[in-house]
Amino acid sequence: MNLIRLIREASAEVDLKRTYDAIVVGSGAAGGMAAHVLTLHGMKVLMLEAGKKLDIDKELKSTEWPYEHKRRGEMPPDSHALSLNEYNIRQPPYATDSKSAHVYSYVQGWGGSDYSKNIVVDERDHPYTGTNYAWVRARCLGGKTNIWGRLALRLSDLDFKAKSHDGYGENWPISYKDIAPYYDKVDLYLGISGVKENLPHLPDSIFQRPIKLAHAELKLRQSLKKMNRVLTPYRAGVTTDGLKHNKYRSRCFGRGACNRRAGGCDIHAAFDSPTGLILPAMDTGNLTLRTNSIAREVIVDKKTGKASGVAFIDSETGKSYEAKARVVVIAASTLESARLMLLSKSNAHPTGIGNSSGHVGHNFCEHLMGSHITGLVKDLVGKPHTLDDGKPGSFYLARFRNLSGRHPNFIRGYGFEGSSGSSMYPGNATSTPGFGSSYKTKVRDYAGAFISMGAFGEVLARYENHVDLDPVVKDKWGVPVLRFHYKFGDNEKKMAEDMTYTAQEMFTEAGFEIVDLSRRVLTEGWSIHELGTARMGTDPRTSVLNQFQQSHDVKNLFVVDGSSHVSASCQNPTWTIMALAWRSCDYLADQFKKGNL
Ligand SMILES: Cc1cc2nc3c(=O)[nH]c(=O)nc-3n(C[C@H](O)[C@H](O)[C@H](O)COP(=O)(O)OP(=O)(O)OC[C@H]3O[C@@H](n4cnc5c(N)ncnc54)[C@H](O)[C@@H]3O)c2cc1C
Ligand code: SF4
Repeated sequence: MNLIRLIREASAEVDLKRTYDAIVVGSGAAGGMAAHVLTLHGMKVLMLEAGKKLDIDKELKSTEWPYEHKRRGEMPPDSHALSLNEYNIRQPPYATDSKSAHVYSYVQGWGGSDYSKNIVVDERDHPYTGTNYAWVRARCLGGKTNIWGRLALRLSDLDFKAKSHDGYGENWPISYKDIAPYYDKVDLYLGISGVKENLPHLPDSIFQRPIKLAHAELKLRQSLKKMNRVLTPYRAGVTTDGLKHNKYRSRCFGRGACNRRAGGCDIHAAFDSPTGLILPAMDTGNLTLRTNSIAREVIVDKKTGKASGVAFIDSETGKSYEAKARVVVIAASTLESARLMLLSKSNAHPTGIGNSSGHVGHNFCEHLMGSHITGLVKDLVGKPHTLDDGKPGSFYLARFRNLSGRHPNFIRGYGFEGSSGSSMYPGNATSTPGFGSSYKTKVRDYAGAFISMGAFGEVLARYENHVDLDPVVKDKWGVPVLRFHYKFGDNEKKMAEDMTYTAQEMFTEAGFEIVDLSRRVLTEGWSIHELGTARMGTDPRTSVLNQFQQSHDVKNLFVVDGSSHVSASCQNPTWTIMALAWRSCDYLADQFKKGNL
């Protein structure tokens, strides 16, 4: 499938003299969903995407063998992926002082780093300043969904009404019952694999065929039952049974590529926005796409203070343009959306559009990545190998802290993502000492006998954790960059200690020999789940958006990505981002038809 050709054929010509019904800024999970829903409602939509169209299938080369690549998948020598230590020791902008011509975020260092170098941004062109933060950005059609890890989880009322449980922060202006029908729509439209567990704090989806647990994972699941904790097969945003309504996506054939590359699936069994949402939206005839279009400012009608369009820069020519619309939908990802709002200053909105509360950029939250543990499953040593490479994920261990009672040291919770089994490349090869035939025998005997997991916990939303515009530093296109003022707090540190404690406790109980235990809390940003910079709420004095992600200040402005989240929860956010965007865009289309925007 040649995606670029398909997109070129399907896209209508951009007409900058025309007033579109809506402009959507960004084409990732949020922008893709906005385009899908609004075009279904018959609205004429222009999508502005800062990045380029990539022939993602060629880019990912999911089935290429390492020996078929001249550097075995590694990036060229003039390119460098930032390491954990660099993020900690140095201050952003991280590309400054680097000898390499191209500098990328840490994800670029993962297996086969050459395959995603055109997906993530070059830090030289896209600097940021302030406190340490590992900010991963993908500027291309589909954004980060081209390489996301696809763990697709729902939030529950334990998350939406967290303040009612522990008194901290704010409740969301919605409950689970408001969003549940939209989670269902996302499940059915995009496909998700998993197993029903009936947990009130991790609601089930409408699942397709689940991923099989490996031997060690089954053993851990059984052992955890005694502790009243639940390990479930990875809930993957992947269609395992196929989707009859989407001709651009195949079902998962479990070819093992998921474990060989940074992410991405060239047959699009794993959800990505271009094949899951944007191409189907183009098939309605209602979507026009302009890539290489960096939104610089939301333009405001001087008389009404309402949004009237978007000013943008062509990333290749550097020329500036304006597009007009009756509604503007920002979906540039949590931090870029806040940046765009702060950049959009006018007489009507002197501190940035939609920012009368002063909360844009604030209440910034995400997930803390703490303890990581590896255990040896002794009864697997020397046993015949299984083929565990060919699956789009392994397991998830649901939150178990602060469900009803209260932990003495911290509030909120965390879950673990993990994996085990035999992979094409035996991960133990580099850590096994020795050489010659005895070394090879040892590597073979122990390959597949390990199980690992790492924790993801909730970082509390705090007003003081925020981003603003740097008064001096600009990006390659002359646009002011973000400056971070963001640190983990005491609650996160205490939670991280508990993650280490319970990881050991659970592996010991399951009879695994702990061979590696990292207590290290990874740098802020490492989870790639940034949230909360334009939160929803009922009070316009303390929130930016209402429950439909509509600006309190500007009724024809919507911000439909993770910036609207009131708290981070500990579950991965993308399924919630899309369910919320669907709900808000249904509302938007209804209000549009009634002439209320
Ligand atoms: C390696 C990796 C693993 C991940 N794993 C998971 C996981 O397992 N589960 C999970 O839930 N989430 C995961 N995520 C996070 C997930 O990818 C994001 O939550 C999701 O993509 C957010 O969607 P978005 O539309 O807000 O942002 P994005 O997908 O980043 O899309 C934003 C788009 O907006 C464009 N844009 C930015 N600024 C502008 C501008 N000024 N003008 C025009 N366009 C602009 C960008 O180029 C981009 O295409 C992972 C991410 C990565 C990178
Ligand atoms: S295992 Fe499935 S989802 Fe992963 S790359 Fe292969 S086909 Fe795609």
